[in-house]
Amino acid sequence: MAVPRNRLSNARKNSKRAHHAKKPKATSLCTQCQSPRLPHTICMSCGAYGDKIVIEKK
Ligand SMILES: [Zn+2]
Repeated sequence: MAVPRNRLSNARKNSKRAHHAKKPKATSLCTQCQSPRLPHTICMSCGAYGDKIVIEKK
């Protein structure tokens, strides 16, 4: 396994990790009931995907 030749300074380590922050999850609104849902997923409140009802909710 490759071994690093020099110790990474705290500044280099921290600037390397500057892009590692977690981003908030992307959400979009359901076209049928306008409730928030994850993109490219079935709406959990009305069961629609796109303009079709895929799961019948009771
Ligand atoms: Zn919906």
